[in-house]
Amino acid sequence: MELMFSPNMLKIFEQCPRMFNFRYVEGINMPVNDDIFAFGKNIHALASYYLKKNNIDKMEKALSDSEFETWNYLKSCKYFSYDVIGAEYNLAFKQNKYFYGGRLDALVKEDNKYYILDYKTGSAPKNAKYDYQTIIYILAVKEFFKTDSIEFIYLDLRNRAETCIEYKPEIYSEYIKQLDEITHKIEVYEKSPRKENCKCEYSKICY
Ligand code: SF4
Repeated sequence: MELMFSPNMLKIFEQCPRMFNFRYVEGINMPVNDDIFAFGKNIHALASYYLKKNNIDKMEKALSDSEFETWNYLKSCKYFSYDVIGAEYNLAFKQNKYFYGGRLDALVKEDNKYYILDYKTGSAPKNAKYDYQTIIYILAVKEFFKTDSIEFIYLDLRNRAETCIEYKPEIYSEYIKQLDEITHKIEVYEKSPRKENCKCEYSKICY
């Protein structure tokens, strides 16, 4: 099994340990034909080029009308005027015996505060404060930059809304506990029977 956990890996384990097993233990990736996914990929790529100060004129011309509208919303958010630390930025940290990490859509800084940006083509997670993505990215920034001045910003591109989670040191032990608990469940997991009446991209091979 891989020794580095991404937020998606932990979320998938919680959703269905069998799905986790297919994807991350057996390494089976089922093809997904999803227009929203393609839309999100285009916007993410464009944002990354833009923040890295590349010329995006030709890319902007290739956008569909709805992509262009969404891109204009994102481009005009205040965070894009802050200092850019990185776009599509890989960070990881070690906690006990495991590494946790992922690729931040962008990390920007203003007045000594770090802002983790995450663009969502769907909406922000329901319980964003305790979402694995929030936890792992905040702890990775905390560790790497040795700071507690961090805010996680989910930018909901569909609803043009922001969800902001400010890191407070008091929550550190809760975050660590949540990571330790889920990785312990993964460690002791033994293949469970198929759930009833469920469906996912692995349905055809899930017996
Ligand atoms: S079909 Fe059901 S049990 Fe099988 S992997 Fe998908 S969600 Fe899990």
